Amino acid sequence: MFDWRTLKKIDAHIHILPDAVHEANPDSDDVWVYADIHKYHSMMDALNIEKAVIMPFNDPMLMSMEFTISAVHKNLYDMKQRYPGRFYAFADIDTRNTSAESAEAICHAIDVYSLDGIKLHPNNTGVALDSEYNQAIFVLAQERNIPVAIHSYPNSEDDPSAAVRIVKILEEYPKLTVIISHMGAYQWEQLLPTHAYMDISAILPDYVRTYGIEKTNSIMRKFGADRLIFASDYPDNRFLQPEEIYNSYFDILNQMDFTQAEAEMIAYGNIGKILST
Ligand SMILES: [Zn+2]
Repeated sequence: MFDWRTLKKIDAHIHILPDAVHEANPDSDDVWVYADIHKYHSMMDALNIEKAVIMPFNDPMLMSMEFTISAVHKNLYDMKQRYPGRFYAFADIDTRNTSAESAEAICHAIDVYSLDGIKLHPNNTGVALDSEYNQAIFVLAQERNIPVAIHSYPNSEDDPSAAVRIVKILEEYPKLTVIISHMGAYQWEQLLPTHAYMDISAILPDYVRTYGIEKTNSIMRKFGADRLIFASDYPDNRFLQPEEIYNSYFDILNQMDFTQAEAEMIAYGNIGKILST
């Protein structure tokens, strides 16, 4: 029997705020205090998290003190440099800029700062996933084979990150590598027939709360081990304190019926393959 705690893992979705943002907000006492690269790095070995993927928010106010997309990308680059080989980071967008400017900033982030993918957060920007604005970004990502992580925790059928919008994009850009963060939450069923990867961040403990262990296991099985990606959304969670998140994930995952080989794909293999191409 294997244990998720000791399994080698990549956490494919975490949040870290740049040091400059922490320094500018010394009195903050929310969960974002935990989003600190030094604190996070110091926990990685005990959790057997070899590497983690830092996701931005599509909100430059959170990821720089200059509040510009170039400063955000520089900060993400600096975080990767601080602990070489331990962190990946996805490029951000700032929808105050034009779509062409966002595409150009992504190119710069990939080519100059060696960032590893693109994060789209339609709920933070209010720009629906399938809007005209994002087309240039999808064209670029498909052409250059850059993975795109899409926040999807929709509350309604016409939510900016609704599953139906993701399905549409996957049909329009069949070669795009897409990671759906939070599995489309309670619209997961609409994403079953697609080929997108599903990151289990934030949603796994919610599923267990709503559906129980057995049904959560069967949902995960429907997607299959080759489409699932271990991810936590640390330090953010609707119900759990930051200190509880990893224990909760490991407890839940230890109750799933995946074989060790399948668990290794979910924990490391799938995301490793996406990030190495
Ligand atoms: Zn997140």
